[in-house]
Amino acid sequence: EQLMRKKLIAGNWKMHGSRVANEILVRSLLAEPALEPSVELVVLVPAPYLAQMQQLLGDSACAWGGQDVSDQERGAFTGEVAASMLREFGCRYTVVGHSERRQRHGETDVQVAAKAQQALSQDLIPILCLGESLEQREAGKTAQVMRHQLGVLLDVLGEAGMVRSVLAYEPVWAIGTGRSATPAQVQEVHAWLRQQCAEVSPGLAENIQILYGGSVKGANAVELMALPDVDGALVGGASLVAQEFLAIARAA
Ligand code: PGA
Repeated sequence: EQLMRKKLIAGNWKMHGSRVANEILVRSLLAEPALEPSVELVVLVPAPYLAQMQQLLGDSACAWGGQDVSDQERGAFTGEVAASMLREFGCRYTVVGHSERRQRHGETDVQVAAKAQQALSQDLIPILCLGESLEQREAGKTAQVMRHQLGVLLDVLGEAGMVRSVLAYEPVWAIGTGRSATPAQVQEVHAWLRQQCAEVSPGLAENIQILYGGSVKGANAVELMALPDVDGALVGGASLVAQEFLAIARAA
């Protein structure tokens, strides 16, 4: 059953890059001999570089996408980027609800779900991020936090929206810290997430891709990607180094 799900390796560049550095990185990715057809690569770049990605990646096997999207369709929303704009620049994916957006911009579970809806309305695939903080984990509240984050998504998007989305479990304490969650911790949460999806529909549980994110690198990718309920990775720091990112893709 699980063999039906493709692996997705997503590079979240965050606020890094320049026209010159991007081109070098992307050309290194394109120089890699074809990966397994069951592995898809995507780079998630700052909005100003989407046109460059469209030009460089064109109809290569590597997809590209945004890091955030507005919950509004258009209008007086200074600084926001509409799903239709991402679409116009060829995006296939967009990140939604990254913990850095939740923390720095106060995005709530309800707003995150509204952003995902906007993405879906333009046929973008939202990569829905969720995960607990260190305090929440230490207080034994991981399941409670995740139940709320996932519950709002399930309520708002419904089965029809969720089947067109990707989930990304990103424990906040593992992001950018060099301290990945252990394989046992990752598998436990991913299995739980899939179980929650199964309560909505067995088909959703079987098909939805659940990525892990948080200090994934070449050195830990093999064991993380081998876990039965892990369908890929959302990679921050290591996605800026072509050989690291490709090592993760090969591990998938
Ligand atoms: P990291 O970031 O790989 O640098 O820990 C992951 C993420 O924030 O998506």
